[in-house]
Amino acid sequence: MLVNSRGLYTKSLLKTPAKAQRRKENRKIQSNESLRLSLRLCAFAGEIIFLLLCLFVLNGSTNANTRVTISLLSPGHVAVRADLDSPSNSWSFRNAYAGVLGIAERADDFRAITRSGQDARAKKIATGEFRSDLEATRITYNVRLSEIDAASVSHVSWLTSDYGVLMLADLLPQDFTDPSIDFTLPAGWQVKTSDTRPDEKAVFLVARSLRKTSTTVDQTPLDLVVSGAWQFKDSEALKAAGKVLKKYVELTGYRLPGRSTVLIAPLPVQVGTTKWRAETRGSTVLLLIDPGASFKNWAGQLGVIFTHELLHLWVPNSLRLEGDYDWFFEGFTLYTALRTALMLKIIDFKEFLNTLARVYDSYLANPDDLSLIDASERRWTTAGSFVYDKGMLAAFLYDLLLRTQSAGKITLADKYRELFAGHATDHGNANEAIIALLGSSPAAKDFTKSYIENSTRLELERLLPLYGLTLDSSGSSSQLRVSRTLSSDQKRLLRSLGLRD
Ligand SMILES: [Zn+2]
Repeated sequence: MLVNSRGLYTKSLLKTPAKAQRRKENRKIQSNESLRLSLRLCAFAGEIIFLLLCLFVLNGSTNANTRVTISLLSPGHVAVRADLDSPSNSWSFRNAYAGVLGIAERADDFRAITRSGQDARAKKIATGEFRSDLEATRITYNVRLSEIDAASVSHVSWLTSDYGVLMLADLLPQDFTDPSIDFTLPAGWQVKTSDTRPDEKAVFLVARSLRKTSTTVDQTPLDLVVSGAWQFKDSEALKAAGKVLKKYVELTGYRLPGRSTVLIAPLPVQVGTTKWRAETRGSTVLLLIDPGASFKNWAGQLGVIFTHELLHLWVPNSLRLEGDYDWFFEGFTLYTALRTALMLKIIDFKEFLNTLARVYDSYLANPDDLSLIDASERRWTTAGSFVYDKGMLAAFLYDLLLRTQSAGKITLADKYRELFAGHATDHGNANEAIIALLGSSPAAKDFTKSYIENSTRLELERLLPLYGLTLDSSGSSSQLRVSRTLSSDQKRLLRSLGLRD
């Protein structure tokens, strides 16, 4: 997911790059994989040989499903043909997602055809809305994927002359259930996805060359698909992702239901200071990185990115909760990711504190006049990183409160396990459920009321000394340090957070 404040992270990653490690790769193809790839060559007019790659879902009812063929016929364009499972005369494309508007405008030349092969007389009635006079069983259209910009590159489909990212959510009309997907690719191209049963959350990487490695972590299958040449080995990236995945299986006590996949490809556009973009959709983490980025420690940088993105495979992607609760699934995720980076020794305790201080400065630079709940509703319509910054700092304070109240027995991490024990399959209101979960004591209830349900300003200078931490905002950037004198309780608290003598 897009995080403005992630540029604030780990400016000084630990110096020691991860040692090159040998790892036994589990390249075995899972026999229970419900997806099989079959390849066949076929010749098209004009002597151009295309590789037709057929991807089909073996769910026993394939024949009854909508069958979709996505053809990459010219750079920056795909042609889509869908044979529908039942006749229809109305189709609607998603037009807005993650602050990106006008997505549906990219679909054109829309045609609908009746069962007898007649033109069903389709017309566009509004952006992304198509209707036909007659009931149709086939639709065809083109989607323009040539315009790419830094703000939308991880959120929508795009295609260059060498590679691209295809997302069913913006390529297909809404409400296609369980479609089977075929690709027609230029000769020599490949396609990879994680979704064994592609749904609207499916993300495909297409390129001339893709490398796939796999592993299994605590019975959770993890694939890594990489396009391009990098300063890290595929095995290092897979190892970094595997370590983080293991931590989150432990954290949540919840096993992801299927395979998870990390897709890594070069960013196809110039970006500002944060040299990468990512989105975790369904079971796929898409990570686009500027190959020219000057990371001191690529494996460490990947680790930091994974601590955030892989947690999204659980929160919110595996929760069935409803409503806008970005303050939790982004803000608390930022803090939990930072804790995980610390526990995995990707960062040290000093960097843990420095990161929080940078986020506090970012928080102070913006007005705080909305509750986190209201701000979550408006995340994509207001500028800035408020939900991330305040959400993360609130998680930090909440963790300090819980640890102190329970004499170190309970931490924020315990709440994730509780969340997954109770709500993974519920369809309840997310804000109500999570606030009830967090507010398990009178003090914790006061906390959620003040900082999550209302817009009480966070004053770390005033609040942190209680926990043995001192925040000095007198310079150009805030400094967060361990206080000079600590009580034995404060010492225990800070040690539990990772302070080493
Ligand atoms: Zn995120």
